Amino acid sequence: MKVCVIGAGIVGCATAYQLARQGFDVRLLDANDAPGLATSYANGAQLSYSYVEPFASPGTLRALPKMLLSRKSAVRFYPRLDWRQWAWGLQFLGSCTTRRSARGTAILLEMAQASRATLTEWMQSEHWSFGFERNGKLVLCPTSEALLQQERQVRLQAALGCDQQILTPQECLVAEPALRHARALTIAGGVWTKSECVGDPHLLCLEMVKSLLRLGGTVSLGVQANGFTMHRDRVSAVKTNKGDIEADAFVLAAGPRAVSLAAELGIYLPVYPIKGYSITVPFRSNVQRPQASVTDLGRKTVFAPLQDSLRVASSAEVGANNLTIETSRVEAMVEAVEQTYSGLCDLSTPKTWAGLRPATPTSVPIVGRWRSSNVYLNVGHGALGLTLAAGSAIALGGHLRSAAIAQA
Ligand SMILES: Cc1cc2nc3c(=O)[nH]c(=O)nc-3n(C[C@H](O)[C@H](O)[C@H](O)COP(=O)(O)OP(=O)(O)OC[C@H]3O[C@@H](n4cnc5c(N)ncnc54)[C@H](O)[C@@H]3O)c2cc1C
Repeated sequence: MKVCVIGAGIVGCATAYQLARQGFDVRLLDANDAPGLATSYANGAQLSYSYVEPFASPGTLRALPKMLLSRKSAVRFYPRLDWRQWAWGLQFLGSCTTRRSARGTAILLEMAQASRATLTEWMQSEHWSFGFERNGKLVLCPTSEALLQQERQVRLQAALGCDQQILTPQECLVAEPALRHARALTIAGGVWTKSECVGDPHLLCLEMVKSLLRLGGTVSLGVQANGFTMHRDRVSAVKTNKGDIEADAFVLAAGPRAVSLAAELGIYLPVYPIKGYSITVPFRSNVQRPQASVTDLGRKTVFAPLQDSLRVASSAEVGANNLTIETSRVEAMVEAVEQTYSGLCDLSTPKTWAGLRPATPTSVPIVGRWRSSNVYLNVGHGALGLTLAAGSAIALGGHLRSAAIAQA
């Protein structure tokens, strides 16, 4: 069975690799000249298996007015004359209940645990090199209210099998001694999760593609999908700038751009781009670099040591549908590094990046077959695409296996 996977971000690469492992004849295509150049390029690098709370939660709802009114806020909303934005926004607000947020957490935790197991197995068989480290993650809470909210989430997740500890401010410094370099660190406490990992998402895409090619898959780069050819009620080919590509099944894994492709098939995807930024700065020589990933909830900023550099990611802008790098965002991240790890990094020429998270209102990705067609969806991984890619690839592989068995 020939399967064409559209989009070679982390989700498409993982899907194509998994399908090739299952014995499908896989063709992976991407509009860019190399895999992993869009949202999967320089994200926060966190394999955040236990930190999956949906963005839509009662806590977010309570904090929303303050977040939106503050000029320095990491969260911004740019209203647009776009029904998709308003439909998404309403669904998002509707998802900010305790029950829905808890349900989302349970689904995402299950996907994340499947992802962890799958990536571990893949790494054992492929020996990929992508800066993977099991370094643990510390979430810093600026206020006792934020700490209480985290404690509630930790209790909920403990019942679902997560092993996380609440730490005092002093214990936070023991968990990550490099925080002693922080200037005026005011925290009420933190959450420590020792099983969290980091890895470079772009390098992982490249490694997956190498393994896909070794398994006999094909990769077509610089190939932009613009529509589909139908034969009866099935898709027979994807139309591209390089001609039609035929297959027996098609997987949409085009990240935030999947929305317009799906619309060509009459499919409405509740996926909206949420823009974020990162900088990557090298550690100075002869310093003791941080070991753990640190999320500073006060600054809404994530710091991840990635080999000899620090990756810093921040911001959630709803409605900024472009990749322009705003100087104020970069300055805020540079300042955050200087304040948190004073003197540890060379901040003279940070590598800057912006990406669009393909977010669903509930933060739960859309993985599966579209009705009884030969179109499959693997989209909407929001802020967790690196974390969930392997798990959602396994889930999609299951759907295609069932279809192949039914067809045989
Ligand atoms: C600032 C920031 C920090 C983040 N931090 C983390 C983190 O720490 N951990 C984590 O798990 N996740 C993180 N994420 C989220 C993660 O980066 C995304 O969920 C993930 O990259 C989405 O992957 P994707 O493959 O779905 O999309 P993409 O990486 O965007 O890939 C889609 C691919 O499809 C291709 N494409 C699109 N349209 C077409 C077309 N018509 N024809 C052909 N090809 C097409 C694109 O060129 C692209 O290569 C972060 C995101 C941001 C923005």
